[in-house]
Amino acid sequence: YIVDNAKIFLKKIPRLSLGFYPTHLQKLETLSNETGINIFLKREDLSGSNLFGGNKMRKLEYLMADAQNKGCKYVFTFGATQSNHAMQTAAACRKCGLIPVLFLVNLVDTDEGAPKANLLLDKIFDAEIHIVSVQPNENVMEAMQRTTAIAASYQNQLEDAGHKCYIIPGGGASPLGSVGFYSGYIELCEQLNSLGCTADYLFHATGSSGTLAGLAAARAMIAPQMQLVSVAVDNPGDDYAEKAAALANETLA
Ligand SMILES: *Cc1c(COP(=O)(O)O)cnc(C)c1O
Repeated sequence: YIVDNAKIFLKKIPRLSLGFYPTHLQKLETLSNETGINIFLKREDLSGSNLFGGNKMRKLEYLMADAQNKGCKYVFTFGATQSNHAMQTAAACRKCGLIPVLFLVNLVDTDEGAPKANLLLDKIFDAEIHIVSVQPNENVMEAMQRTTAIAASYQNQLEDAGHKCYIIPGGGASPLGSVGFYSGYIELCEQLNSLGCTADYLFHATGSSGTLAGLAAARAMIAPQMQLVSVAVDNPGDDYAEKAAALANETLA
């Protein structure tokens, strides 16, 4: 794979070192022997200092650099109550001296008395947590829109008091966040090069589509013959591919 042209663009974009990169590319020997197909696993789960949502740190290396360069003090982000992305954002903020503000829609019981998993970690990171309950008269999408409005009014309050806020959409799915997986795709191609291998398929999980958009953007530059197979972790909805393609194009731009 010829990666040099694709890499030139990355040099211009500030990035912090928050995760452990490059992540390992591990061959699954037993499964490969059993199936007669060479299967490798890119260990994004081992990208950082904690256990959940390993794919988020690539995005955050670019987003946190941008937040710092813009002189922000607070970082807002969004998700469900057990969001991996929200927790990783809180962790990244604390490494960078920024204050994490999380807006979480309670799709999962918050269990306030004894928080578990990511919500417990959010508290350990001392994130400012705003839990928004889905009301009986609204659906999840409406609750999320209401959450965005609540966040916007809080942002105004903080900025009126002279504190700059940096806003990260749910899943870190912004063009700059997706640059993380543009870079991840290049990293993968370089590892395949050093093994003397090419790959026919790249399977990955997709939620907010931030990962997908970054991979698709880099794939347009290098090795379009490697097919992306994106497995939705949620009901993707009708305009999912269209939105992901738009984000991929913005990432390239
Ligand atoms: C966030 C996440 C995804 C989806 O990644 P997106 O970039 O949001 O599409 C998949 N799996 C896990 C475990 C995640 O935390």
